[in-house]
Amino acid sequence: MTHKPKTKIAIIGSTGSIGLSALDVIREHKNRFEIIALAAGSNAERLKLQIDEFKPRFAALSDENAALQLEKKCSNIEFRAGEEGVASLCEIDDVDIVLVSVVGIAGLEPALKTLRAGKRLAIATKEVFVAAGQLILDEAKKYNAEILPVDSEHCAIFQCMQAAGALKNKSVERLILTASGGPFFGKKYDELKNVTPMQALAHPTWDMGSKISIDSATLMNKGLEVIEARWLFDVPAEQIDVVIHPQSIIHSLVDFCDGAAIAQMSNPDMRMPILYAFTFPERAPLKMPSLDLAKIGNLTFFNPDCNVFPCLKLAYAALKEGGIVPAVLNAANEIAVQKFLDGKINFIEIPSHIEKKMEKCNNIAKPTLKDIIAADKWAREIE
Ligand code: MG
Repeated sequence: MTHKPKTKIAIIGSTGSIGLSALDVIREHKNRFEIIALAAGSNAERLKLQIDEFKPRFAALSDENAALQLEKKCSNIEFRAGEEGVASLCEIDDVDIVLVSVVGIAGLEPALKTLRAGKRLAIATKEVFVAAGQLILDEAKKYNAEILPVDSEHCAIFQCMQAAGALKNKSVERLILTASGGPFFGKKYDELKNVTPMQALAHPTWDMGSKISIDSATLMNKGLEVIEARWLFDVPAEQIDVVIHPQSIIHSLVDFCDGAAIAQMSNPDMRMPILYAFTFPERAPLKMPSLDLAKIGNLTFFNPDCNVFPCLKLAYAALKEGGIVPAVLNAANEIAVQKFLDGKINFIEIPSHIEKKMEKCNNIAKPTLKDIIAADKWAREIE
């Protein structure tokens, strides 16, 4: 029997929630995958444990001091430091797939480097598409590189399209992204005035990092996902809908021109979209409890309330405006979320902080990468 060579993987963001799930997947499939490189932000302690277990040939931390300290404790490994050091891991010859799972705009450079190296980009960082969707697509085309979505909704849509043989034809009528609704689903606007970061971080169905948890609570996460879907599937905003589905069992659906809708379901677990992005077009087994619909009992659906959660509306508006506005929305949101987490603004002030910056910016119709980076910086610095 001949053995297939192992798929060689680099993980940019290995100590975060998606990175940990990815390492779980790889642990379960040691004969199929090999870790070549691991990178993280500043969590040296966790990265050290991962290096000891997976023995990558390369590692990096974007925090340069933490990188220096950790390098002293590791042997037989090439260590790199700083944002550039992290991004350079995406270009290693041997690597087949790069998983980019860092938070926010920090994922842009690693994503571009991966595509320019012609490698498969498994992307969990939706902010990259929000800020620079068109550029990402252009680079993927130019360098003939594949993009596989790791966001559960986009992985679901990708699978529905595959199942329908619809990735390259025009039979798609609508994409319907499901949203859990977050911890404040069903609340009135006034009830959100005094919610604390702790309450906002307590997500009902998914266990995630703090930035995305707050985004889920404001529904900005779904707004960012609408923009992500627009680019990933080349479907205009008018044909992308959002429905609240608190059980997080249906991960999204595609509505076709003949009235058929195809949905993808599973228990909420990020390992599945990660594994699919690694093995596509094949499927590989995963130790997961099978879906017990009778036990779940009810699957319910509601329209989102944009008066209570204006962030969703802002994301649609940014997509309609185009140019640098989505990049401004994204950066302004990152800043507002951090301010809320630091106790500097209230939960309900998050959308107005973002809207103010969107209104203030001078839009550029066809922004270059430089324009986008400048817009991102501008939106972080202004008050
Ligand atoms: Mg998602």
